[in-house]
Amino acid sequence: MKPANSLLSSFGTTVFEVMSRLAIEHGSINLGQGFPDDSGPDAVLQQASKFLFDKPNQYPPMLGVPELRQAVANHNKRFYDLDVDWQTEVIVTTGATEGLAACFFGLIEPGDEVVLIEPTYDCYQPIIKRAGGIPKVVTLRPPEWKLDIAAFKAAFTDKTKLVVLNSPMNPASKVFTEAELKVIAETVIKHDCYAVCDEVYEHMAFDGRQHHPLMTLPGMRERSVRIGSAGKTFSVTGWKVGYVTAPADLLQPISKAHQFLVFTTAPNLQRAVAFGLGQDDSYFNGLRDTMQAKRDRLADGLSRVNGFECVECEGTYFQFVDISGLGFDGDDAAFCRHITIEAGVTALPVSGFYSGEASKNFIRFCFAKQDAVLDEAVGRLAAHFGG
Ligand code: PMP
Ligand code: GLN
Repeated sequence: MKPANSLLSSFGTTVFEVMSRLAIEHGSINLGQGFPDDSGPDAVLQQASKFLFDKPNQYPPMLGVPELRQAVANHNKRFYDLDVDWQTEVIVTTGATEGLAACFFGLIEPGDEVVLIEPTYDCYQPIIKRAGGIPKVVTLRPPEWKLDIAAFKAAFTDKTKLVVLNSPMNPASKVFTEAELKVIAETVIKHDCYAVCDEVYEHMAFDGRQHHPLMTLPGMRERSVRIGSAGKTFSVTGWKVGYVTAPADLLQPISKAHQFLVFTTAPNLQRAVAFGLGQDDSYFNGLRDTMQAKRDRLADGLSRVNGFECVECEGTYFQFVDISGLGFDGDDAAFCRHITIEAGVTALPVSGFYSGEASKNFIRFCFAKQDAVLDEAVGRLAAHFGG
């Protein structure tokens, strides 16, 4: 038998799946893989159910149903004052993941360099490499997560095709500052390349921080792609509905990749997401405030458990935690297995989000859970480690 593709074969099963399987096997509280434990807002779910019966269930248009593309354009205007042509500048994708894949396959030529800011979400590197791109990695380190401007600029060459920016950032929970965005924009413009902006946590920036799409900075409208996810914004991660906003000449090649990857996405879910994006401000503010309160609840609880040191969480629904104080004999992956089996709580090891050398003493908890579940998790950790 001839071998399968060697690059993809070289990756193991994603850490999200591995840890969720382990959590199920041991009946632990799963704060590893990032997903909320409620089922999403009733009003949005009702629309999905209604449209299943009231509207066609056959292939929708390749770019997405007009209602959702219009809603994405309106959302861009309402939150960021971006003028977007829904007909030529928006595409609906099967989750942000497929949106990212379509961008990478559509924009990268073999040999192009791609600047990444680590720690990165796990799907970036495999897809970029499969598209023929060469990752050039700039690493951020906790607890400050400061962008090293000199290192960032040095990562660009005349072969750079694009930079990937994830803000608010998973798993670092960092919201890039306006000063950092300015430097990123200037560097992208100087090297005449593109920015693919993964903004799936756009509505989860905390403590009064504002999320600023890179696309809104001077000179960036024509060279940025902005990706959102209904999974995050409406707490329905299983729906896999994403939306990409890009200037028309970039949307073209991205849609070429999309048409051969999946072509389209479930029409009733698209229509329900269109409804969701049109909800009033109280929905979006409520999502942010609820997540911020959950962050505080988990961080307060963990601060009372021996050896758990929380790193500041500025956005997303993840809490990054330093476990070096515990003196555990093993790496972050062994620690996460240990607490799953022995304490009944699952977290995610974060060394897997780094391609180079990574510290082995950090783990990530997802706090998008019922308060009682967070309390129970903290109680179990305190019972195991003392507190
Ligand atoms: N980007 C980041 C940073 C994420 O955390 C996730 C998590 N799901 C995704 C993309 C993928 O989003 P989706 O589920 O819509 O594909
Ligand atoms: N984005 C989610 C996380 O970071 C998980 C996505 C997945 O399971 N593929 O945990």
